[in-house]
Parts: sequence; structure tokens; C-alpha cells
Amino acid sequence: MGKYIGPLCRLCRAEGTKLFLKGKRCLTDKCGLERRNYPPGNRGKKVTFKKSNYKVQLREKQKVKRFYGVGEQQFRVVFGKASQKKGITGENLLQSLELRLDNVVYRMNFAYSRTHARQLIRHGHILVNKEKVSIPSYILRVEDEISFKEKSIQNQNINAMLEDVKGLVEIPEWLIVDHEKHLGKVNSIPTRNDVSIPVEEHQIVELYSK
Ligand code: SF4
Repeated sequence: MGKYIGPLCRLCRAEGTKLFLKGKRCLTDKCGLERRNYPPGNRGKKVTFKKSNYKVQLREKQKVKRFYGVGEQQFRVVFGKASQKKGITGENLLQSLELRLDNVVYRMNFAYSRTHARQLIRHGHILVNKEKVSIPSYILRVEDEISFKEKSIQNQNINAMLEDVKGLVEIPEWLIVDHEKHLGKVNSIPTRNDVSIPVEEHQIVELYSK
């Protein structure tokens, strides 16, 4: 399936939860889900029908994919690796998604959204351990340092963005950020409690185990 290019708020309404795809707007009363908290296409009518197990599992997978901005193929790869690791597959999956560079850049308050973080990474503004990394799906490790290219910091637009984005989202305890130096570090591995989206990850595991 191709990349979704429709209205982003529609995705949140389809999942019935905020996916935080539009940066600052998501935190205001202009949020599409807060204004129209019902699935798209229903014109406000409440539709009640029993969801099949498959449908529930599929929705959980779609929700996580959309939240982290990961395509189907890439999601399967991450799932495959998670299932080969020791521990609980669902938690391993969420941990790997949390440790993606685009997610970390966003959670450090270095970008308005995960989509914006991906753009900054692809344009070569982000360094990991002082080396340029332009792959948004890059998986970080403990002690990895995230910073901006010196030239990027001097860019007026990026500088203004960094000021504007400060304090936008709560920084989780597994990350350390020095906003003055535009520098962040992965302090520990995120735990299940650090995942901010409501998700039943066991449903995804069951879906892929069929
Ligand atoms: Fe979702 Fe609300 Fe953000 Fe739209 S504004 S993307 S509905 S969280």
C-alpha cells in the first residue's frame, strides 16, 4: 500500500486516539479529534457493531504504525527483530520504536512532530555521536549523543524553531537534554511505561503470529 497523503487528523479519528501528527496544533483546542471525536465518514453518528478479533488486532497495529510513522514493510522488519530478542515480543517492539532516531529527536523537543524530526534528519541536520546520520529509523543505544550540525544551529529558521519547540512535550526520564547546548543523550533503555500511546501490544503479536 502506498504512503498515506490524506488529512492527518482523519487518522487520529479513525484510531480514536491522539497520534500527535501535527505538532503544536495537537496541543490546542483546534485538535481535529477534540472537535470531532468520532470516526471519519460517520457524520457524528455513533455506530455500534461488534468488532472481530482480527479487526481489533489490525487497529492496534495501524495505531502504532501511524503514531511512529512507520510503513508496513519496515514495521514487519522491526517486529521480526523484536520476536528474536529475549523477553516479551510486544515490549521489545515498542522499545525498538521508541529508540528510533526520529522518535528520540521529537521526544527531546528538537522538532515539532515525528514527521518534522524525519525531515530534519533526512536533510542532514542531526548528528549522532558527532557523526551525521540521515536515516530516521536508525536505532539508538544507551549513551548515544544527539546534537545539531554547527551550521544548522547557525541557521536562523532552525534556531527559531528550537526556541519555539522548547517544552512542547514532556521529556521522558530515559533521555537527558541540555536545551542551551542543543544536545541530548540516551540515558537508559525505555521501559513499557515510557510508551505514551495507549496500546495493547499483545494484539499486534497475535496478529503476526497467525
Ligand atoms: Fe491528531 Fe489532534 Fe494532532 Fe490532528 S491535531 S493530528 S487529531 S492529535
